[in-house]
Amino acid sequence: MSVLVYSESEKDSFKKSSYEAVSYGKSLADKMGVELICVTFNCSNSQKLKNFGADKIFNIESQNSQEFTCKVYSTLLSKIIETQNASTIILSSSPDSKYLGAYLAGYSGGSYISNVVELPESINPFIVKRSCFTNKAFSSTELKGDVKIISISSNSYGIFEKEGKGSQEEFKVDEIETNHKVTNIEKQSGSVTIADADIVVSAGRGLKGPENWKMIEELADLLGAATACSKPVSDMGWRPHSEHVGQTGKPVSSNLYIAIGISGAIQHLAGINSSKIKVVINNDPEAPFFKAADYGVVGDAFEVIPKLIEELKAKV
Ligand SMILES: Cc1cc2nc3c(=O)[nH]c(=O)nc-3n(C[C@H](O)[C@H](O)[C@H](O)COP(=O)(O)OP(=O)(O)OC[C@H]3O[C@@H](n4cnc5c(N)ncnc54)[C@H](O)[C@@H]3O)c2cc1C
Repeated sequence: MSVLVYSESEKDSFKKSSYEAVSYGKSLADKMGVELICVTFNCSNSQKLKNFGADKIFNIESQNSQEFTCKVYSTLLSKIIETQNASTIILSSSPDSKYLGAYLAGYSGGSYISNVVELPESINPFIVKRSCFTNKAFSSTELKGDVKIISISSNSYGIFEKEGKGSQEEFKVDEIETNHKVTNIEKQSGSVTIADADIVVSAGRGLKGPENWKMIEELADLLGAATACSKPVSDMGWRPHSEHVGQTGKPVSSNLYIAIGISGAIQHLAGINSSKIKVVINNDPEAPFFKAADYGVVGDAFEVIPKLIEELKAKV
C-alpha cells in the first residue's frame, strides 16, 4: 500500500496548492505507516518534492503529455497507481485535478471526493471531512472501494517541510491515444493568479469605471497580490472574466481578501467564504459586506486607497 500525490506543475515550478497536497499526503502516509509517492509531468524540478516528504518521485515525460488532457494524464496515473499499489490518491483543488478525480475513480473502480479540509478522522472505514454548500457547512463522508481519491480544498491544510527519501523512479511510457489535442492556451492577466494568491485585492462597481483600476493594480503590486473583481465589473468589460469572483466565477481561498467598492451580495460572498481574513472598504456603512468582514473601513475608495498605497510605499 502507498499514498500517491499528483503534483501539478507549470513551467517547472509547483503551485502552492501542489505543495499543500504533498504536505497532506505526507501526513497521511505517516499516519498509515506507508510511503509517499509523488507523480509529476514534464517537470525538471520534481526533486523539490523530497523536501515536502516524497519518498518516490515519478516524473513522466511523454510526447502527448506536454499539455493537460484528462485521458492521457488519467491513463498514465492509473498505471502508476496500479503498479505501486496506491490505495489513497491525493489531488489539489485545481480544475484539472477535479476533472482527473472522476476519471481515476472510473478507471480504478474506487471513489472520489472533493473539497477535503482535514486528514481522515478514520482510515478504516475511510472517513474524511469536506466542505460543502460553498463552505457554509461540513460533511463527514465515507469513501468505499480499494482506491480512495480525494482533492484538498485550497489553503485548508497548509504547507509543511519534511524530508522524504526522494528517490527518482523510472516509468516507461507508452504514448496514449486520445481524441483531444490542446491547440491554444490563453493565460489570464495579472502576475499572480487568483487560485495561488495569498492576498487578493478585489474591486467592484464602486470604482465607477475601468480607468480607476490603476490604483487597484498598484495596491496589488505592492502587496504581491492578485487582482479580482465582482461580476458586473467583468460583465461590463472593465476587467477580464478571469478575475470574476463568486458563485458564478472563481472561488478564492486566500489568506487576505480586500474588497473595495463591492456591496457583498450573497453570490459574491459564496466565492470568498474560505478566505481567511476579509477587509472591506466601502463608503456605505450599511453595505452587507461589513457583516462578513474581519476588518472594515467606511470611506471613499478614492481617498482610502491612495493613502494606503502611500503608507505601504513608505514601509518598503
Ligand atoms: C444568478 C446570479 C449569479 C451571480 N453571481 C455573481 C458572482 O459570481 N459574483 C458577483 O460578484 N456577483 C454575482 N452576481 C451579482 C450580485 O448579485 C451583485 O449584483 C454583484 O455582486 C454586485 O456587484 P458590486 O458589489 O460590484 O456592485 P454594487 O452592488 O453596485 O455595489 C457597489 C458598492 O460600491 C460601494 N461604493 C460606491 N462608491 C464607492 C466609493 N467611492 N468608495 C467605496 N465604496 C463605494 C457602494 O456602497 C456599493 O456597496 C450574481 C447574480 C445572480 C442573479
